[in-house]
Amino acid sequence: MDCIFCKIVAGEIPADIRYEDEELIAFPDINPIAPIHLLIIPKKHIPSLIELPETEVSLVGKMAGAANKLAERENIAESGYRVVINCGEQGGQGVFHLHMHLLGGRQLSHDMG
Ligand code: 5GP
Ligand code: ZN
Repeated sequence: MDCIFCKIVAGEIPADIRYEDEELIAFPDINPIAPIHLLIIPKKHIPSLIELPETEVSLVGKMAGAANKLAERENIAESGYRVVINCGEQGGQGVFHLHMHLLGGRQLSHDMG
């Protein structure tokens, strides 16, 4: 399958893996928009949030748990951070493998764009 994030999961494209468990990995965004900008993704290919089966919604909770751990590790837990999942065209999704952005390390705008 021609999916860039699946290739990162498979180790075919290098990435600095900052977190890994049975179901998830996290690595820095190649084009960061904040001092801390990590992507948390399921190892399994799920194209987008809307395509997440109802039986697997707990996966997003696990992604949030990983985001919290990473925020602690990256020292942004106290200063604050943002997690974002873009879904579909108008949601601004560019890579069609489910992922959660973890953003922090600067004051983020209240304007969600
Ligand atoms: P989206 O816009 O789909 O929510 O976010 C996709 C993100 O993936 C973008 O912020 C983009 O910079 C990042 N990205 C795209 N290709 C790669 C890649 O090959 N490696 C990494 N680490 N990030 C990528
Ligand atoms: Zn994929």
